Amino acid sequence: MERVTDNVFAETKIRGCNPAYVVTSDGVVVIDTPQLPTHAVKMRKEAESHGEIKYLINTEYHVDHIFGNYYFKGAGIVVSHIETANNFMTVTPEINPYTYAYEAIPSDDPEGEKIWPDEETYFKDPNRPTIVFDGDATITCGNHTFELISTPGHTTGQLAVYVPEERVAFVGDTIFNGVQTWLYASDVHSWLASLNRIKKLDVDYFVPGHGPVCTKREVDVQKAFLLEWLTAVQTAIAKGYSKEETIKSIDFGKRFNVDIGQEYMLDHVIEHNASALYDKLKG
Ligand SMILES: [Zn+2]
Repeated sequence: MERVTDNVFAETKIRGCNPAYVVTSDGVVVIDTPQLPTHAVKMRKEAESHGEIKYLINTEYHVDHIFGNYYFKGAGIVVSHIETANNFMTVTPEINPYTYAYEAIPSDDPEGEKIWPDEETYFKDPNRPTIVFDGDATITCGNHTFELISTPGHTTGQLAVYVPEERVAFVGDTIFNGVQTWLYASDVHSWLASLNRIKKLDVDYFVPGHGPVCTKREVDVQKAFLLEWLTAVQTAIAKGYSKEETIKSIDFGKRFNVDIGQEYMLDHVIEHNASALYDKLKG
């Protein structure tokens, strides 16, 4: 994993989110877990080589941030915003997150097949959050402080984890750095407000949900891209375009690739973003 500061380690080069951990004087705090089983097992082992894992913080409920929790059972208390707990691996008519997580196994983690739980076993105990809260919260572990800052937008229960002693914040999918932004059910206006909030943090580094570790500059880049999305879809609606015409009018596919391992989903991401935003703005 990449050593971001003396005590901060992050993984930005695997399929799924960017999981990370912080080594404190009283154990380790993990932020999000790898989606693929062998990566999750490997990261747990590495984190535990620095000390006992005391907390596991989930920044959101999307499967690529939480599925790996299964492989961190017994490794610390799982903490999240209440909305993340409420939506944790929830099966909807559109998606079964368990099935979605499995789709990556044959191609991206064939070894993971051996430790893949069947659906019943998995849902009996996926290692859900047990400490949940609304608004903001603070955890201390050894000499480190973990400010859990509510940053709704990408999801309702979105968190940024600010560790002032390391001058680092783990901002999750509030920033997609250099890769396509997934809007889906996002509230883009709240997301923009949350970007303003994290910009005020006194940090040297942001660990984004996807893409390389970055600095505050990427806050404005992300803001600008969200504003472009809003403008593009709002313009299409103003012109009286149908949803299909709106989707066709968007050419953001050329801007970025989708994050590692999901490049093949480019058209899907753009279409889904456009469609979801169209629905939102149409009210
Ligand atoms: Zn997400």
